Amino acid sequence: MSKAPLPNTVDPRRSADQGLSFQGCVPLKRFQRLATYLVEQEGVVNVSLTFGVDEERIRYLNGTAEASVQMLCQRCLEPVAIGIKAELNLGIVRDDEAAQMLPRRYDPLVVDHELDVSEAIEEELILTLPLIATHEDCEVKTDFRDPDAKPEGDDKPNPFSVLAQLKGNKH
Ligand SMILES: [Zn+2]
Repeated sequence: MSKAPLPNTVDPRRSADQGLSFQGCVPLKRFQRLATYLVEQEGVVNVSLTFGVDEERIRYLNGTAEASVQMLCQRCLEPVAIGIKAELNLGIVRDDEAAQMLPRRYDPLVVDHELDVSEAIEEELILTLPLIATHEDCEVKTDFRDPDAKPEGDDKPNPFSVLAQLKGNKH
């Protein structure tokens, strides 16, 4: 079945009963709690959701939410790009009591008539963030900012200047 564009809100039970799938992008800006962990709020979260009813008649929401976000490197205090991907496997329930009854393979999604899609995935996205973000190699970044690391005889900023210099140093 083809996937419909992602709405801001859905009726989770009707979507499950109809086995609907949605796919789309949500601007990072819409995730205000997630944004407090980030240094850059431009960008999107790619979201793919599938609603359904399992063999135990439990309504579920499966899906993924993926993004590339900028966090602060805790070693050099420069931004570092982090790829995050949340896997959702949620059982749709009305209250905490019903949540207790869910099989353990589901995380509970307590929701009434209307589900705010970004709200449903925000918590999962936050859980995928690393506790401490760092570059794999901070030196690579600091080289870029070294004022002495200019290539000779070229006034234009050159993104490959560091590479050129590294090659030059070999001679
Ligand atoms: Zn760093």
